[in-house]
Order: sequence, then structure tokens, then C-alpha cells
Amino acid sequence: MILLKNLEVYSPAHLGKKDILTGGGKILSIQDNIELPDKILQEVIDCTGMMAVPGLIDAHVHIAGAGGEGGPATRTPELQLSHMLHAGVTTVVGCLGTDGLTRSVESVLMKVKALRQEGVSAWMLTGAYQVPVPSIMGDIGKDISMIEEVIGVGEVAISDHRSSKPTAAELARIAQHARVGAMLGGKSGIVNIHMGDEKDPFRLLYEVSEKFNISLKQFWPTHCNRNTYIFEDAKTYGKQSYIDLTASSYPFFPEYEIKPSKAIRELLEAGVPAEHITLTSDACGSLPGFDEDGKVVKLEMGYPLSVFTELKDAIRQEKLKIETALSLATSNVADILKLHNKGRIARGKDADLLILDNKLDMVHLLANGKIMVKEGKMLKKGAYEHK
Ligand code: ZN
Repeated sequence: MILLKNLEVYSPAHLGKKDILTGGGKILSIQDNIELPDKILQEVIDCTGMMAVPGLIDAHVHIAGAGGEGGPATRTPELQLSHMLHAGVTTVVGCLGTDGLTRSVESVLMKVKALRQEGVSAWMLTGAYQVPVPSIMGDIGKDISMIEEVIGVGEVAISDHRSSKPTAAELARIAQHARVGAMLGGKSGIVNIHMGDEKDPFRLLYEVSEKFNISLKQFWPTHCNRNTYIFEDAKTYGKQSYIDLTASSYPFFPEYEIKPSKAIRELLEAGVPAEHITLTSDACGSLPGFDEDGKVVKLEMGYPLSVFTELKDAIRQEKLKIETALSLATSNVADILKLHNKGRIARGKDADLLILDNKLDMVHLLANGKIMVKEGKMLKKGAYEHK
């Protein structure tokens, strides 16, 4: 058991000054004062002056690599454990992305297993940009119902020059298979939608919902801050259902992206409920810039750290309450994805704890009760991260 003393706890709701006891990978107790004999404790860490927040959930990461839009040499590498740890991220949700043609959902599944072996938590979405959607067992409903690691489908691309241009009927069928798979498997069955640059991008989702009587809450559109017109539409759509903001593509496209921290404040001011908004990194996704002929003219890659950075900016620059900002990458994501043991500091939940100093910089990080970062030093490295 590890005892953390004198923390200001944000669960993400503010709980005040508490001690936290962890054991067996779980949070065993949160109380004003916990006293236990040293001999039964593995470690006591005095955290006076620090705060505890839930380990961040980054729910849109191309963990097995992505990209390739500029040719084979532009394929991005897999996520490394250190990318998560120094970003305060203890849970990732992996997805395939643009390249559902030469990369596979099987490789995403194996990467989920690899990250779990390295001590963090991971799940995945089956499918890719393409329709028909690739799957492991031949049907996305089968994947979601029977493969523990698979919790939904996506990112299925719409309104993008790289999408398969699915019709409303095709998207409805995807949502239905995901929904039935989710019912059978006790999962969320969310359909993560890659929103592209085309105008009126939410129209297809409204059409699916109206024509086929499918709840908008089955969909989870991402990149909703990618340009001003999608962002304006998101202020309306977000009042009804979930919207995800992408952190890592800012500041690569500053001329049209809305800075995520600012986007959060503006959505809240527009009346979008905080619990409808999430923030993910899109890490390991390539950040291609195209010219008017569709030719790639620049290429970057995203990292999970962008979520932490934007949350800090939301708190410091945009003056959001700590608990509101944090909820976007903790409790909101856990609720939408039905990750019941994640996203909150509460008794019985997994001991994923991010300990911050008063400047909101990471001091310690626990994942499933194991200390991964101590006093800012990474104690654990990925299998091939020797240097
Ligand atoms: Zn995307």
C-alpha cells in the first residue's frame, strides 16, 4: 500500500485536503487523515502543497502509428510509454485513422496489450477512416461485444477529402452494429467521427439521427476546433451531444485552428454543457498540410502532452475552474466511454493519480497504483526506450 499525505484533491470535483491510500492498484481510502503503521506500507509520500487530480485519459491516440499521406516515408511511429507518462496520461484509447488500407486494427489491439504490459491502461476503437469499416472479427459489432479491449468504433471519416464519403444509411448501419455490440458486451459502443474540412460537417450526423432514429449521443465527433465554421456549428451541436476537441494540431495550423484552451471557454460561454466536451490529443497522427491540388506540403506529428498543456492554459489563461478544465480529459471521457474505474479519484476506482505542484507541473504519477513518475523523474520506460 502507498499512502499519499496532505493533498488538495480534485476528483475532478474539489474534495479539499485529504490523504489517499492506494493498494492492489486501487484507491482504498480518501480521508482527512489516514494513520497506519509504517511496516504495512510500501511507501509514505508527503505531498504538502501539492494537488491530486485523476490521471489523464487521452481517448484519441494513433497508438500503433498513423499518417502516410505524404508517401511511405511519412508514416508515423508507434506511441512510446514515455509520451504518455510525461504528459500525465495514464489511460489511452487507440484508433487506426486515415490508413485503414495498409495498417490494421489487429496491430492496434496488440499495441493496447503492449501498453497494458508496460503498466498503463489502454483500450481501442475498431475500424478506421474507411467505409466499409475494417474489423478484427469481420464485423464491428462482434469486435465490440467479444474483444475486451474494443469499446467502440472509429475514427470514421466524414466531410473530408480522405473519407469514403459514407451515406447516411451506411453511417446508420455502423452505429447500429456498434450499438448492438455494445449492448451485448456491456460497452459504450461510441462511434468516433473524424470531422474533415468540408462545410456543414454535422449535417450527416443530424440526417442519420432524424432519418434512422439514432441518438446523436451514439456519435462522438472529433477535431471540432479545426476551423472557425466547424467550431461555430459545434456550439449548436454541442448543446445536444458530445464534441471532442483536438489538442495536438494547435499550433501547427494557427491560421484556422481554434486554440483548444480558448475553444473550451467559448463553448461553455455559448451554453454547451461542460459534460458534453472532451479534449484528446490525436497523438501520433500526422499533421499534414495540403495545397489546393491535395498535395502534402508539410508534415508534423502530435503528442499526448498537448492535452496537459491546453488544460493548464484553460485554467491559467482562460480562468476556467480547475475541476471544469480537468473533467474534459478525466470524468467526461470516462462517462462517455463507460470506463467505470477511470476518470475520478474515488474509493474503489483505479489508482491513477497525477500529483501536481502549485504551478500545475507534474511531480508524481501513479498508474494502476504503481509509481511511474517520482519527483519529476520517469521510473518506468517503454521496452525500447533505453536512452
Ligand atoms: Zn482524425
